[in-house]
Amino acid sequence: MAYQTALSKYLALCEKYAALMLPGFFNFPSAGEDIPEDLVMDFGEFVEKYDLQAAVPKLWDSTVMGVGDFLKVPTLYVMQASGLVMARAMLGQSRAMVPSSGNLHELYERVAELLGDDVLYNSIVVGCSRNESGVSVRVKHRDGNETEIVAKRLLVAFEPSPVAMAVFDLDEEEGEVLGKLSFSSVYAGLVQHPSLKGFNSWTNTLPGAPGSNYSAYPLPAQVGKIGHQPGGGEDLFAFTAIGTQEDNDESMQALISGSIENMVKAGTVNGSNGTTAFPYFANHGLMHSRVSREELRKGFIARQNALQGRRATWYTGAAFSAGFSTILWAYNEVLLPRVIEGL
Ligand SMILES: Cc1cc2nc3c(=O)[nH]c(=O)nc-3n(C[C@H](O)[C@H](O)[C@H](O)COP(=O)(O)OP(=O)(O)OC[C@H]3O[C@@H](n4cnc5c(N)ncnc54)[C@H](O)[C@@H]3O)c2cc1C
Repeated sequence: MAYQTALSKYLALCEKYAALMLPGFFNFPSAGEDIPEDLVMDFGEFVEKYDLQAAVPKLWDSTVMGVGDFLKVPTLYVMQASGLVMARAMLGQSRAMVPSSGNLHELYERVAELLGDDVLYNSIVVGCSRNESGVSVRVKHRDGNETEIVAKRLLVAFEPSPVAMAVFDLDEEEGEVLGKLSFSSVYAGLVQHPSLKGFNSWTNTLPGAPGSNYSAYPLPAQVGKIGHQPGGGEDLFAFTAIGTQEDNDESMQALISGSIENMVKAGTVNGSNGTTAFPYFANHGLMHSRVSREELRKGFIARQNALQGRRATWYTGAAFSAGFSTILWAYNEVLLPRVIEGL
């Protein structure tokens, strides 16, 4: 099939550049000519250059929709969103493992047991001071009480957005580098509406889009997918929706309700009176961090890498690696020995 040929070609390109970006940007060139033009160019140009058009709808449908206007985003970031690992999976070339218990949460439950009281659940960092010899982090609990953690080193393990980092006492270089990142926001959950019935699934597309025009995709905010949730009865549906950096739970819930109304108006589903309910609604926050091609050429990745260890602070997570759990684990295997070196 055409998409398999195109996807195989895309996979070969991801493999070519894998050492520069997986499990993180440890080996990424500093600046200028050493940075491959393929990774810096907009993904739309990359698709044209290598005739990958037939693979694009599949990539979009997997995880690339999360990037938003992905054809105008440097290829590097699209590959981080759906690259080597995802292409191999879509081509049936990767293996999956599940615990013998069948419980996919088991790993996290066992880690929670191991760490015990050392984890402060349902808390948020509200203040921080850092210097080369150590950090002090103030954490607020749900009941309003606070705990101060004094440590030799800090590992930041969430998307370093300006809002999230505001309390981390950033210096000028940290503020400038992290301030260049832009994001999309991703929402997922369960939705019910009397008009959504049966074992159906819908993907958002624009009129005239694939297969006649591979380059037309909805931009955020948009509801990427609504599909029947297996095991949930005929009226339970899962959704994935992509917002801008400015969206929030309310704006996205209104968007999803409006999208269902549009599906009724367009005759995509048969209309039945009623309201939209969200049995489960998860705001996964800001994801798919990225900078412009100009910043990449100027050596943004080297500046980002140079933050590792600055003022006793280290970073893991998708912004420094890629947004997949397995890749992040591999990244941490490399990073953690560096974090504790010399302690
Ligand atoms: C709908 C959806 C489906 C996905 N499916 C898959 C999949 O099938 N396979 C896969 O590999 N990946 C999947 N991913 C991607 C994967 O979930 C992420 O890449 C991964 O969770 C990122 O891990 P992380 O540890 O970097 O950050 P997170 O998992 O986001 O963890 C960051 C944590 O830090 C907390 N936090 C944030 N700010 C603060 C603060 N100021 N103080 C204290 N705590 C804070 C957050 O509450 C959160 O618990 C999916 C993502 C989404 C949204």
